[in-house]
Amino acid sequence: MKPRCKPDWTIEDSAALYGIRHWGGGHFDLSARGELTIKARFPTGEVAIPLPEIVAGAAARGHEFPLLLRIENLLDARLALLNNSFAAAIAAAGYRGTYQGVFPVKVNQQCQVIEEISRFGAAYGHGLEAGSKAELLLALAKLHDGALLICNGYKDHEFIDLGLWAGKLGHRCFFVIESPSELPLILDRSARLGIKPLIGVRIKVSAEVGGLWTETSGDRSSFGLSTAQLVTVVDQLRRCDMLDCLQLLHCHLGSQIPDLSDIRSGVREASRFYAELASEGVPLQYLDLGGGLAVDYLGNQSKHSHSRNYDTADYCRCIVETVAQTLDRQKIPHPTLVTESGRATVAHTTMLLFNILDVLQFAPLALPDRCPDTAPALVARQYQLHQSVTADELTATYTEALANRDRLRERFRSGEISLRQRSLAENLFLSIARQVAEKLDQQPQIPAELSDLHQNLADIYYGNFSVFQSLPDTWAIDQVYPVLPIQRLDEAPTRDAIISDLTCDCDGKLDCFIVNGNEQQTLPLHPLRDDEDYILGVFLMGAYQETLGDLHNLFGDTNVLSVRINENGSFDFSKELSGDSIADVLSMVEYHPTTLLEDLRNKAESAVRRGAISLAERQQILQEFSARLRGSTYYRS
Ligand SMILES: *Cc1c(COP(=O)(O)O)cnc(C)c1O
Repeated sequence: MKPRCKPDWTIEDSAALYGIRHWGGGHFDLSARGELTIKARFPTGEVAIPLPEIVAGAAARGHEFPLLLRIENLLDARLALLNNSFAAAIAAAGYRGTYQGVFPVKVNQQCQVIEEISRFGAAYGHGLEAGSKAELLLALAKLHDGALLICNGYKDHEFIDLGLWAGKLGHRCFFVIESPSELPLILDRSARLGIKPLIGVRIKVSAEVGGLWTETSGDRSSFGLSTAQLVTVVDQLRRCDMLDCLQLLHCHLGSQIPDLSDIRSGVREASRFYAELASEGVPLQYLDLGGGLAVDYLGNQSKHSHSRNYDTADYCRCIVETVAQTLDRQKIPHPTLVTESGRATVAHTTMLLFNILDVLQFAPLALPDRCPDTAPALVARQYQLHQSVTADELTATYTEALANRDRLRERFRSGEISLRQRSLAENLFLSIARQVAEKLDQQPQIPAELSDLHQNLADIYYGNFSVFQSLPDTWAIDQVYPVLPIQRLDEAPTRDAIISDLTCDCDGKLDCFIVNGNEQQTLPLHPLRDDEDYILGVFLMGAYQETLGDLHNLFGDTNVLSVRINENGSFDFSKELSGDSIADVLSMVEYHPTTLLEDLRNKAESAVRRGAISLAERQQILQEFSARLRGSTYYRS
């Protein structure tokens, strides 16, 4: 690793440090001026737009930080990648079937995302997967004609009626049976409406899968039929002469599966179920393998739960070849392959951008040239240590300084030393710790006693965002996202930092980062400059984040901007959504803005009556209050 103090730092050093080429999937790059760029591909070539330009365009339109940016071109590119990779794998393997994907709505339900998937996906026949009535309603309205619509999850008769009507409208709408009790309901509603259903069955595979989401498959999963239940459902359909409705076999191994060999085992088992059912005379035509295609958040192509040891092409080849091999043994015709890839389709599309409001450094504020004569002996000893840190005694020096600091704090508590003496002692300790850390950087090995030192001395950068609103998975499941500055990447980042959000919660922070391909607890950043925004981006956060967020400390939805990059190098804001105002979030917890204003008016009026404020001041206070109600929940720098 290159020392970060090098004066000849280049954008390539930043690219390696932040792993941009590894997690970026080819969608991100750096400009010669050190800006992070977004790349869009066109038949005539590639266009790269610097992110700071998009931010400037947003600011000129009145959108303040934090900004959620959605790049439509990236969504198109991911859909194209998935569909083209399956097409290539199918051609290469001589597979006698096609691929038809569906997007699981739960992964990102935002209208702009669903509309874009429906619009761009039409060319590939890319459909939607719905897991609730609300999702089915939006899918039904937005999906292009003729596409697949897969209904998973618990279903009541209203859900089923909607799905049956979807079939009348020309969608191939499958009810995937997750539990045996659903079948009688589907048959009953279908008879009442006189519409034949398309039915799928969801099986539980026993092949074990690694990753964070393993409980979505296996014997104890709450979803899917056991083998015995599957056989019962098939027999019931046969008895009532409806076996021709059963055309799809579904399984979902889990989300974010890091190891390709786990996917292969699961697909092989699902294919065996398919082959067995087909050879029993079930007229299956679709094999739906669910989600699981992982995103390499870490950018290190590993079996780590936030990474993956394969790429999209490997994934498609694995599925196509495994299905073909398994079915060919029993001479079963190849089905249409379906996957429900959510994460891998939308993660790259969305990024969160926020500015840094302030930085807290753990460094001495002021130190006298010599130790005051009045200083207690222990403080004098700290002064001596601070003046004599040498490379060969780092552990001993630090251990003693730490013990001295703790003893001095104890003496403060018991009243033996004064506020000023404690202040000097704390400054001295920080000076010693800093000197030790600097000398440590030049040593090949870090002693175990000093392994936390860098982290303990890291700066805290205060970001204008809320983890709970925008990145809930970072605290809920320790999800790691790429985080980096979007400017000054031609400059060495000389500070080590953790990032704190605006909430008053100790979980409201980002303290796990990928640096040079390894997880670490601090992120290299640049020192702030006066009068210049320092903007950080959190990337790959388009999946699962947007509707999980909550109103911790009443920080509301951020501004959301959709951007389309044009072939001529320009870009448009194709959709602008303002975030929640303070009045919006207060209404969500049942405060009515008009009543609040009335309450305040009464308070101000009685202050006027008491003579505490003038009438002009009353007006000023009320104006300020109502302006803030209409304003953003986040901060201005
Ligand atoms: C959540 C879910 C998916 C999406 O999985 P990804 O790993 O995000 O692709 C697909 N199918 C079902 C049934 C799901 O529950």
